[in-house]
Amino acid sequence: MSTFQNTPNLPAVSAVVPRSGSSPAIVGNRKTRRAIKKVIDLRGVEPVIMPVDALLDGMTAVDLTAVRRAIVHERGEGNILFRCGQCNSPLQLSSSRESSTGDGRGAFFKHSHRTPEGCSWYTAEAQRSTGAKQFAGLQEGEPHWRLKNLLADSIRCDPDFSKPVVDKHFIQIGNGHRKPDVFTTHKGKPIALELQLARMPLTTITERTAAYRAVGITLVWVTSAHELALLNNQSFRDLYLAAGGRILAVDVASYERSEETSVLHLHELSLEPAIQHPFAIYNRWRSRMAGPEVILMPGGQRHAEGQRAYGSALAEKLQAKAPGLTEKIAGTVASGADLNLVAAEWSALAKLVGARDLRQSIQDELPRVLRWLQAVERLNNATVQDKEVAGKVVAACAAAIVAARTGKHWIQLIEHIADAVPAAAAVLTPDFRTKMMRLKASPGKLHPMHAYHRHMISALHPWLAFWLLAKAPNGTPPHQRLP
Ligand SMILES: [Zn+2]
Repeated sequence: MSTFQNTPNLPAVSAVVPRSGSSPAIVGNRKTRRAIKKVIDLRGVEPVIMPVDALLDGMTAVDLTAVRRAIVHERGEGNILFRCGQCNSPLQLSSSRESSTGDGRGAFFKHSHRTPEGCSWYTAEAQRSTGAKQFAGLQEGEPHWRLKNLLADSIRCDPDFSKPVVDKHFIQIGNGHRKPDVFTTHKGKPIALELQLARMPLTTITERTAAYRAVGITLVWVTSAHELALLNNQSFRDLYLAAGGRILAVDVASYERSEETSVLHLHELSLEPAIQHPFAIYNRWRSRMAGPEVILMPGGQRHAEGQRAYGSALAEKLQAKAPGLTEKIAGTVASGADLNLVAAEWSALAKLVGARDLRQSIQDELPRVLRWLQAVERLNNATVQDKEVAGKVVAACAAAIVAARTGKHWIQLIEHIADAVPAAAAVLTPDFRTKMMRLKASPGKLHPMHAYHRHMISALHPWLAFWLLAKAPNGTPPHQRLP
């Protein structure tokens, strides 16, 4: 196993260091020096001072993108979500370039503006993300103008679109104006297409998205499929992890398809989970040609469909590799029986997906959490007359998780479910939410259990797989890297 652990491009296996007894491994990325140690988290009903490690170490790649976008979006609305625990200045969330994980372990806060005098939590210039160097290859290899014209030529093939205007269509937005890379209309509806190639600040992405939405113009982000490894960059992750792991790309092949069919086609790259023992679950890009119905799909629908497709793909692959295994384990969880009865099945599934063994899982009180997730699913599917009882079970189970020995370490999971499932949120009282927030901020290291157990939770509850497992693939699949 030592060779796997030293290879930065390998997925999950290297990140899940098995813990022994009561001395858990450190999940935080050791290379990330977090200058800012404590922040004031202003997202909830009351401000909470949070240790940064507790806040960030459990963030999945999807969480990181969502929080980064929320910070930038809210700042545009005049709201601050995080302030420095020492000087009270607004903060932004960055990710370290040395981090190969792409999740919260490689993230750190920094002051939004210059570090105020008197604050000693200073982020050195060298720690800041620049990224320009990484993109030099793409910028030179496939110039912006060439792709813009290829995109315009592809649109020209499709009679449902008006003649595309490259770089010349001014759109009045508020007091200013925008000039999209390519402007066209589809059956009379205005469409702006923007190419993302070089590192683009997140403010640019969220500002453009909001500006076009405000004037009723559909915005389509397009990139180049030239080098997939370049998509493993935070500014690209900010785009596709907020879009269900989907991104559109233009190249000669997509242009040729548009020409042959007289219908605009682009490549759609979508994240897909793959299972290959002993690499746990890893991500890869699936590429397919997409027509206007996918290209012009509203963002919310793209995100929801992408998440669903990711979970379904995982469930299908598990069913193909290990028929009936997840059902057997889920049935035992539901019955409340001792999971040692399905020890062999657990072990087989854990090996397949790279999850922790049963002994460790029981020690981390995972079975109670799995029962709660089943209760959440029942509540979500309950008929009107069953809703009340199902809701009480969800609330009682959540209280039992939080009151238990490992309670503090499962709070991030409960909070995520409350964000994702309105029916579950509705049964958690504001008092309970406040209690969780305070417990999470309490002294002592926080171990993000949902991250430690992400593989088993995803296998048994695929609707959570995108949140827990989706991240940028590092080039070729891992098994192709072995000598
Ligand atoms: Zn400060």
